[in-house]
Amino acid sequence: MEYFGRILKTLETTNGFKYHPKCDKLRLIQLGFADDLLLVFRGDTTSITHLCDCFLKYSAASGLIANISKSSVYFGGADISKKALVAWDKLCYPKSAGGINLIHVQIWNKAAIAKLLWNLSKKKDTLWIQWVHIYSVKQGLVWDTYPKQASWVIQNIFKEKRYVEEVGYDCTRFQAMKNFSIKEFYQKLAALGKLATKDRLTKWGMNVDIKCHLCLTENEIVSHLFFECQFASNVWNKMLRWKGISRQAFRWKEELEWMINNCKGKSASSHIYRIAIAACIYHVWKERNLRIF
Ligand SMILES: [Zn+2]
Repeated sequence: MEYFGRILKTLETTNGFKYHPKCDKLRLIQLGFADDLLLVFRGDTTSITHLCDCFLKYSAASGLIANISKSSVYFGGADISKKALVAWDKLCYPKSAGGINLIHVQIWNKAAIAKLLWNLSKKKDTLWIQWVHIYSVKQGLVWDTYPKQASWVIQNIFKEKRYVEEVGYDCTRFQAMKNFSIKEFYQKLAALGKLATKDRLTKWGMNVDIKCHLCLTENEIVSHLFFECQFASNVWNKMLRWKGISRQAFRWKEELEWMINNCKGKSASSHIYRIAIAACIYHVWKERNLRIF
């Protein structure tokens, strides 16, 4: 492979050979994974011919021949659009996890993508991160980057910050994290759920009165509705007293962190606490719906 790398290096000065448009700054042609080889370059006839010559030269010297039946050609930037064959939702089967609920694959995926965003923010020294920084982030901040020209995968990594914000992180707090646990992030995302609170409906472009129907003073966002609203915090304070916990109701983020830190185990007390918090959220939500509909 080293010899093949040296032959490919000659393409740098070969007339007419063009790198893949998104790899020319890195002068990248070849990627190897175990015994797989990926060659990337611009798909014009001259470049293909030059690369083919290199490959044949290497083949003649080493005696290795590419297995055509195991080789594939991938195109990008051509006018071909293809939709996914399997609906994403159908891949989202729940699995029992023994935690506070079920593992939801779709939410787990979001948490895993958030880790990629965190890796990008940390500028970990790997090839793909260098690549994204050179072509998408450029001189800016990962947090403020919205790359419109990047691939679907890269765009979705950057879009992930809306979920990071929803669970309560801002740019500074996110970057200050020393480690990123997909499991912990998943728990926060799962707890946030997908409730159509009024702020969410407004974000989706629906024209609704944004006031909380339980207190009629604050705007209805998830964090307000379940613990910060006077109505909900009264309910939760009573539950806390019933459980013998002598503290006032925290805000949404702190409540979640408290639960993750204090109710991890399988003890009866932890179970009851998790059931109580779920019941409280459920009934506050039900009461809110009764008052609206
Ligand atoms: Zn309220």
